[in-house]
Amino acid sequence: MGTRSASSGNLLGITRDELEQLASEAGQTRYRGRQLYRGIYSRREQILDNLTDLSRPFRDWLSARYRVAYPEILREFVSRDGAVRYLLGLEDGHSIEAVYMPEEDRLTLCLSCQVGCAADCKFCFTGLLGAKRNLTTGEMVGQVLALAKAQRIPRRTRLNVVFMGMGEPLLNLAAVRGAVKILADPDGLGIPLRRITISTAGIVPGIFALARQALRPKLAVSLNASTEEQRTALMPLNQKYPLGQLLQACRSYPLGPRERLTFEYVMLEGINDSDADAERVSVLLRGIRSKVNLIPYNAGPELPYRPSPRERVLRFQKVLADRGLPVFIRISRGQDVRAACGQLSLAGVSTMDSKT
Ligand code: SAH
Repeated sequence: MGTRSASSGNLLGITRDELEQLASEAGQTRYRGRQLYRGIYSRREQILDNLTDLSRPFRDWLSARYRVAYPEILREFVSRDGAVRYLLGLEDGHSIEAVYMPEEDRLTLCLSCQVGCAADCKFCFTGLLGAKRNLTTGEMVGQVLALAKAQRIPRRTRLNVVFMGMGEPLLNLAAVRGAVKILADPDGLGIPLRRITISTAGIVPGIFALARQALRPKLAVSLNASTEEQRTALMPLNQKYPLGQLLQACRSYPLGPRERLTFEYVMLEGINDSDADAERVSVLLRGIRSKVNLIPYNAGPELPYRPSPRERVLRFQKVLADRGLPVFIRISRGQDVRAACGQLSLAGVSTMDSKT
């Protein structure tokens, strides 16, 4: 990855190969680098001196040059429903958000992949920030480690990771790929690929690039509209990557035996939530092995959109279900804490589904 810009001395994000290289530079066997890798990611050790499976001289050598720094927790907002939204500080002073979402049978962490976002979706609060910069692999893996530490998540706990926080993963694919590699590696964070989801606003070349990757997490596509015109109004990037091309890319996306593509659909009152919209969506998705997640909109004072009323969401769901689509309504998490700063949407990241 060439991510060894450990110029700041932070080892986080450095790959196994690079750590093996580092070990040999220190006059150690490459195997010592692998132990270091396991220590940082699998054992989640932050103090290099505690890696007692490494020799004293190597630990001293490492401690003199390197450290393992997680994004700093600046604030946390605890929701009544148990979700915790973290505001995390990066080394250059930017801040991002990540969300911890415990559920009965699982635990999901929602990560950011960029500071701000270039996509400019009209209903999204991150869009208001504009594009600031990409996160590094280390900053993404660091979000998982920082939340695991803050929440004292045991190493054995099954984690789900969704890239549904700030930013567009397919506009930062190289670094996201690096993060997925470390997250999914049994010697790294050990999170199975099927429990890692990348959500995209529909960057068509990015979908093709992801399709060619060997290490492919699950893909979710933010559909959010039923016509080209409507989608362009809500998501200006639809001009560059029109719905027609997007769905074509989805059709050719390689899926595992029981795998489906997820289509997310944010329900905006009076905008994209009519029966006719639902009927068009069912036609658009014909021939794609898909499931649909309807996301209740999280409103905020900065934007004019309102969430569709519950009955409307249920009706929309029924139209899709009657046409044979698996369709779920996402339970919106942490709505009360979102109000505190209103940048990151918490809706759409819950994995608690309800189906009729
Ligand atoms: N850029 C990626 C991932 C971040 S957005 C993407 O677009 O998919 C993750 C999901 O949250 C998307 O489906 C998006 O449409 C949805 N979303 C954005 N703002 C929202 C809001 N205020 N309320 C509910 N969902 C929102």
